[in-house]
This record gives sequence, structure tokens and C-alpha cells, in this order.
Amino acid sequence: MKEVILCKYGEIILKGANKSQFESILLREVRRRAAHVGQFEVSYAQSTVCIAPLTDEEDMEEMFRQAKHVFGFVGITRAAVAEKTVEDICRVAAEYLPPYLAGARKLRVEAKRSDKQFPLKSPELAGEVGGAILSVMPHLKVDLTHPDVTVRIEVRDQYAYIHAGQEKGAGGIPVGCGGRGLLLLSGGIDSPVAGYMMARRGLALDALYFESIPYTSELAREKVFTLAKLMTEYCGKIRMHVISLTKIQEAIRDNCDEDYFTLLLRRFMVRLSCRMAEQCGAPALVTGESLGQVASQTLAAICVTEAASDRPILRPCIGMDKEEIVRTAREIGTFETSILPYEDCCTVFTPRHPKTQPVLEKVLEQEAKLDYEALFEEAWLTRNTLVAEPFSL
Ligand code: ATP
Ligand code: MG
Repeated sequence: MKEVILCKYGEIILKGANKSQFESILLREVRRRAAHVGQFEVSYAQSTVCIAPLTDEEDMEEMFRQAKHVFGFVGITRAAVAEKTVEDICRVAAEYLPPYLAGARKLRVEAKRSDKQFPLKSPELAGEVGGAILSVMPHLKVDLTHPDVTVRIEVRDQYAYIHAGQEKGAGGIPVGCGGRGLLLLSGGIDSPVAGYMMARRGLALDALYFESIPYTSELAREKVFTLAKLMTEYCGKIRMHVISLTKIQEAIRDNCDEDYFTLLLRRFMVRLSCRMAEQCGAPALVTGESLGQVASQTLAAICVTEAASDRPILRPCIGMDKEEIVRTAREIGTFETSILPYEDCCTVFTPRHPKTQPVLEKVLEQEAKLDYEALFEEAWLTRNTLVAEPFSL
């Protein structure tokens, strides 16, 4: 019996003139993953991508897992393939479904014909298949309102597909359909989640990590690079740029009022990010900021930081509680790495009484105490780039 993986489109269905472009990005992503897992044929029809193994040896579980991480699909299922005759559909259903129905007592069968030439109407076909299943699993009862398991039959162009284990897909829009953003990636919990959320809306990502050696360590950088690699599981390839803030932080420490340290640093980060974004072809920045989470994320502080930017700063975590962010971090597999205890440049020389209601004018007065342009250019020269490839962990 032949088995395939069916992946159901999400929002792409709603895209009018752009649909074929979105579709080709989606297919390219599925093919890239399929080629990594083994030998599969990837085709699409009627808002569904079909991944068919070319030998009996292919790792269907891994392929299924990969498909679940592709943005653009709302449902993923393994399905048995049958010829488009009632007899074959019933035969395959009776043979294929029992493991999926183990432990179930109440069953519903739904049929859907995209091929209207098929001789039976959907409810009639569902009835036939229900009968075939009950003949091999007589303890089951049909229950259309509260079933334990729903079996679905899809009669499509070439074949009929039978399945009972549809799972949720990753949702969203394929990565790359929404342009590019530069993610400010720290070693914390929030920024990988922010990157994931924007990638889910179609953004391809570059990442930028600021370090401050010797106040932060090589291990801290490795940790952030591991986070970037973990994110590739969903987001595809990520170039991670690294810039050193050591000189800037020392100059701030030596010349400015302590209460402003973090704000001044964050404005430098944003300025440098804008230049990097320009170089990457990214019209927007992405951060993991969440309103009120820390002193530098009060509304007033965000306004002061934002004023240093020449492009939109996307903050998908802005309205999320820490608990929700943590939940997502666990789901996408970045949490355990994020909580490894390495220092971040934002926690070097932290003020005892950071300004929570800063006024831009006052911040600019502090900035005027620095040789701003020279510090900026010197930091810019420290940049280098690491590349996180998918499947490289
Ligand atoms: P946490 O989970 O500890 O809050 P965080 O990454 O959100 O971690 P914050 O100090 O809250 O850290 O910083 C807010 C945002 O600023 C981060 O989400 C990230 O986008 C950016 N940021 C902070 N530190 C760095 C850094 N060292 N390099 C790049 N971006 C950073
Ligand atoms: Mg944070």
C-alpha cells in the first residue's frame, strides 16, 4: 500500500494574483527539505502539496516533521493512496486505518470529492467506507457529532486519499514572501521568538548580535549562533552578523550619566542595526521587546530608542506576557538554549536606577558627550558574519 504526506495550504488560498508566486516559494521550501530527508516527489494540486516517497525506505516520520515546520500549511497528514474506485477505497481503508483507530470507540467518516465525475456522492462514499471499516473493527460505533476519530476520504484528480491523523501545520506565510528583516538577536528568550513570529508572516531573516568582549564571552556568541541554527528549522538560512560594542560601552561608562547607560547603548544598537539592515536589503528591524518588561521597554524608553531608527522596528512580542513568550520558545525548541546562563552586553555596566521615563532631549545631551561618529564607525568596522545553515546542528 502506498502512503504519502498531504499538506494543506493556509492563507495562500486567499492570495489573488500573487498566489502562484507564493506557491512556488512554498514548493521550493518543501523540495529543499524533501531532498535532505531522502527521495521524494513533491507535487501540488487543488491547494494541497503531496509528498510521495520514491522508495519503501524513506523516512516518512522525519519528512512529516519537516513538513510541519514549513510556514504556509495549516494541516499535515499521512494518507494512504487508493485507486478511484469504491472497491479499492474500501479495501485500502480497511487495511490502512486500524492502527489510527486503535483505542477509539466512536468514528466519523467524511468524504470530499474534488472530482465530481466520481460515481458516488460524498455521503454515500462515506457510508460505504464506514461499512468497510466496521467490518474489520466491529466494536466501533459511528458518531457524527462526538467522534473520537474522524476518517477523511479525498477523491482527487488522480487518486483517492484516506487518512485519519491530520495535525496542525505551522500556519503563516512561506518565508521570503514578505521581504527581509534584520533581527536583533540576543541570547535571551524573546528575540528568537520574535524572529520566529515574523518569519511566520513571511519575512526572511538576517540576524545581528552585539557582543562586548571581554565583558561578554566567546561562549555567549556560540550560544547565540546555536539559537540562530535552531531557528533555521523554521526560518531557513540565517546570516548572523556580529558587531562589537566594547569601545562604545567603555566610552559611555567613562563619559555619561549612569542612569542613561542602557538607553544610550540601545540607541547605538539601533543605529548600527539600520546600517546593517541597509546592507542586507532589509527595510525593517525586528526585536524581542515587550512593553513594560524591563526599564528600557517602557513606552517612553521605546520612543527614545525608536527615534534612533530610520526604518520600522517590528516588535511582535510587544503585547505578549513573558509566559506566552516562554510557551512559544518551548514549542519552537529555543527555550533550553536561551536559558543557558551567559552574559549579554545589555547587562554589562547596568545602571542602578535606569531612567524609565526618559526624555529624548536629555538623552541627546548625554550623547553629545561622546565622539559619536568616531565610535559608530569604529564599531562598524568590527563586523563579521557567520552563516547558520538549515540541518547544520
Ligand atoms: P530576555 O528574554 O532576557 O528579555 P531579550 O533578548 O529580550 O532577552 P532584552 O534585554 O529584553 O533581552 O532586549 C530587548 C531586545 O533587544 C531583544 O529582544 C533583542 O531584540 C535586542 N537585543 C538585546 N540584546 C541584544 C544583543 N546583545 N544583540 C542583539 N540584539 C539584542
Ligand atoms: Mg526581553
